[in-house]
Amino acid sequence: MGGGRMYDYKFINARIVDGTGNPWFRGEIGVKDGKIVSVSKNLEGESLHVIDAEHQIVCPGFIDVHTHDDLAVISNPDHEPKLFQGVTSEVLANCGFGCAPVNKLTRKQLLQYISPVLGTYSREWGWKSFKEYVSVLSERSTSMNLVSQVAHGAVRIAVMGFESRPATSQEIEEMKALVEEAMQAGAIGLSLGLLYAPGCYADRAELIALSKVAARYGGILNCHMRAEGDSLLESMNEVFDIAEAAEIPLHISHLKLIGVNNWGKIHHALEWIESKKAQGLDVTCDIYTYTAGSSTLMSILPSWVSEGGVEKALMRLSNPKQRAKIKNDMGRSVKGWDNFVEMLGWDRVVVSAVNGEANTNKAIEGMNFLEIAEHRKQEPVECLMDLLLEEQGCVTMILHQMSEEDVKAVLRSDYSMIGSDGLPLSSEKIHPRHFGTFPRLLSKYVRDEKVMPLQQAIRKMTSFSAQRFGFKRRGIVQEGYFADLVVFNEQEIRDRATFEKPRQYPDGIKYVMVNGRLVARHNHKTAERPGVFVPLQYKCC
Ligand SMILES: [Zn+2]
Repeated sequence: MGGGRMYDYKFINARIVDGTGNPWFRGEIGVKDGKIVSVSKNLEGESLHVIDAEHQIVCPGFIDVHTHDDLAVISNPDHEPKLFQGVTSEVLANCGFGCAPVNKLTRKQLLQYISPVLGTYSREWGWKSFKEYVSVLSERSTSMNLVSQVAHGAVRIAVMGFESRPATSQEIEEMKALVEEAMQAGAIGLSLGLLYAPGCYADRAELIALSKVAARYGGILNCHMRAEGDSLLESMNEVFDIAEAAEIPLHISHLKLIGVNNWGKIHHALEWIESKKAQGLDVTCDIYTYTAGSSTLMSILPSWVSEGGVEKALMRLSNPKQRAKIKNDMGRSVKGWDNFVEMLGWDRVVVSAVNGEANTNKAIEGMNFLEIAEHRKQEPVECLMDLLLEEQGCVTMILHQMSEEDVKAVLRSDYSMIGSDGLPLSSEKIHPRHFGTFPRLLSKYVRDEKVMPLQQAIRKMTSFSAQRFGFKRRGIVQEGYFADLVVFNEQEIRDRATFEKPRQYPDGIKYVMVNGRLVARHNHKTAERPGVFVPLQYKCC
């Protein structure tokens, strides 16, 4: 016992929700050398610091299983938008978007692909391989703990750019080698973005071959499916088939059902997942606590437009003949393609960030396409095409796409966990989920609308997520576990980020601790950055 002191920190007067799904109990928590060393009714022994929880909730730190913070955690390692929500760990490289591996021949294509989602990083990238990216992450002191997947989009671009065709067997071998290298460097699995170019060009053989590599290392397959609207069930069928063939645990990203005519029907998808589970498929999903999504505006175009990459797409957008074809396609439904505009209407498509070098369109951030059309005195579809041209494709949108009823149904299912899907962009009109997802679950869905009990909500943000994404000995308040902890007031907790003013920190989070060190106190960052990168099969010390 160093210096005779039993604890570095002692939490007293706590109502502990331990993360397992059990209801709260009164107790005290002793923390020493980064770990929880004691949980009991009354702790004997001295502590350097005492945190009086004042009968508020103390629970494990939240785990954001769906982030696009791959560059943001490097450029801003304090990462307040998440930290102040009580997030202590994050999963990187979702939806096929990742910043490694990098092939210098296709680097520009990779940047154009990821920028509307991951944002930009102005400094020199200190990595090419996934392994080098991991060492940059490991060396950078961050506030929170990180795991990373290997992103299919980055792998495919490194091997074959934006080629809009199935991979040859030689190319599949090259991609397998890159996935293998990433798994050896500690990736926790493979993420797919089948909606996006170039992920959408991959065929079954390629996806199974790459998934098998991840499976061999004990990884997970995490899918942003090809379609989430009219063709949701076909898309689910595709990922079930891949996971079964590759014998890999499956995680479905942001399970949702898009399209006004589809609202209220998510139970079909949930029932199917149940029956797949009954047949033995290991499947889980994540969801964010909003009815709106957000992504790159390029993904609103028919997928043929992006063949060959953003550069080629921009050429097509400036060709009158191709523009006419785009206009025609966007006015009808095409089997297997999510035509967001047709399913939702132009008024539900909002520009949230324009990031092109020109920077001439900042004024339209926050407007929907009917408003933009009025502003620019153009038809919405013409605005869309011109805007993408003017901003070199680097535009981000918000889609008001789901029903409240469906969101609640997914939240309630016991195999869903919480992922923000937040986009760390500098715009003043980004989707508020980057600042509010976790408190919003606790305020809107637990306290105000009673969609589920508190302990169930906390399980979806802690132990369940830790178990699924390789955070060993995290996500539970128990002796021997890492001391990632949050103290919050059940009555005061509230997300303050709105669509009008998204860049606002929540109320009600009192303390955030990562690895036994206090990182935030009442929405103030301390100087501590105790986060670690957790490779798959991390050996706990
Ligand atoms: Zn996604």
